[in-house]
Amino acid sequence: MSRPFWQDTAGAVLSVDLGAIRDNWRQLRERAGSARCAAVLKADAYGLGAARVAPVLADAGCRDFFVAHLDEALALKPVLPVGATLIVLHGPTPGAEAEFVAHGVLPVLNSAAQIAAWRALAHRLDRELPAFVQVDTGMARLGLSAEELRALASDAQALAGIRVAGVMSHLACAEDQAHPANRAQLERFLAARRLLPAAPASLANSSGIFLGEDYHFDLVRPGAALYGVAPVAGADNPMRPVVRLQGKVIQTREIEPGTPVGYGHSWHSSGQRTRIATVAVGYADGWLRSLSNRGCAWTGGVALPLVGKVSMDTITLDASALPDGALQPGSLVDLIGERQGVDAVATQAGTIGYEILTSLGARYARRYVGEMAK
Ligand SMILES: *Cc1c(COP(=O)(O)O)cnc(C)c1O
Repeated sequence: MSRPFWQDTAGAVLSVDLGAIRDNWRQLRERAGSARCAAVLKADAYGLGAARVAPVLADAGCRDFFVAHLDEALALKPVLPVGATLIVLHGPTPGAEAEFVAHGVLPVLNSAAQIAAWRALAHRLDRELPAFVQVDTGMARLGLSAEELRALASDAQALAGIRVAGVMSHLACAEDQAHPANRAQLERFLAARRLLPAAPASLANSSGIFLGEDYHFDLVRPGAALYGVAPVAGADNPMRPVVRLQGKVIQTREIEPGTPVGYGHSWHSSGQRTRIATVAVGYADGWLRSLSNRGCAWTGGVALPLVGKVSMDTITLDASALPDGALQPGSLVDLIGERQGVDAVATQAGTIGYEILTSLGARYARRYVGEMAK
């Protein structure tokens, strides 16, 4: 049984295994063969704490770090070694170009307009400015459209003053290895490269690495798999689990048969007396409300079904399978851990592991473990 072995006042303890993240990066680097292996640290390293994750990966040899926003890059700069490259996926918002140059951060240029603004700044500063250029190969989200690419290719001055540090695109369906869009995007990417200056190429996210060598090019960009999310749908997860979430019991009670539990009385105890344990984790902590009456917590190999609606600050568990007194206020139960990983929780919630991770609450007591073991 879990015992209250931490004195924290927090309602839950979130443990992040930095050693597992490092091992996952090494595994992905191996799988990527001769390609460089970057790390995607956007959204605070998928909710796990970019300032803690980045130095560990830098120490392991990672030199290329992708984030979504300039602010995220600036926050990471002080914790990364000189020589690390910070790349901002969204590129500059209009007017922010000079900030990128001032801080030595590389933008991903996603449109003809972003390219024009970058080119204009290079002209103004009278120096060559490095940037990634993204082409859209089948996601219709970010990157040059086929039309923009053609126009760019026919204008000798389009990239004047821009040093193309990388040509990239992003896969829409890579976790589904049989999806025909993967090959279609690969072919469009190969064609796009021929229209652009020779530069290192990057296509694969985590799942893309598992599509094989054809998808690796010069640089791979894993995010989710670093943090333990399964990269291939329907296959065993080869990544080490990174996150453990232990919720704290704050009250237990016995209820009579047929007693309603929680908001909306969406659950009633059955014909027997039932033991309810209330845990101090709710939807405000990222235990999504779609987990109402779904899934369970674990303690000592025993599943405790979640009953009733998820509240803002609490969930209620049916703890009848445990002996009387096994759970006390302060006891910890596993919400994410050995028995159910991030992906299992995501399936119960009707979402993906990415959303479970990035929803993880700000109120948790966070513990970083495994940093020392190399
Ligand atoms: C988020 C993102 C990645 C990382 O994707 P994962 O699926 O988490 O590995 C790579 N490239 C781009 C452009 C992204 O937006």
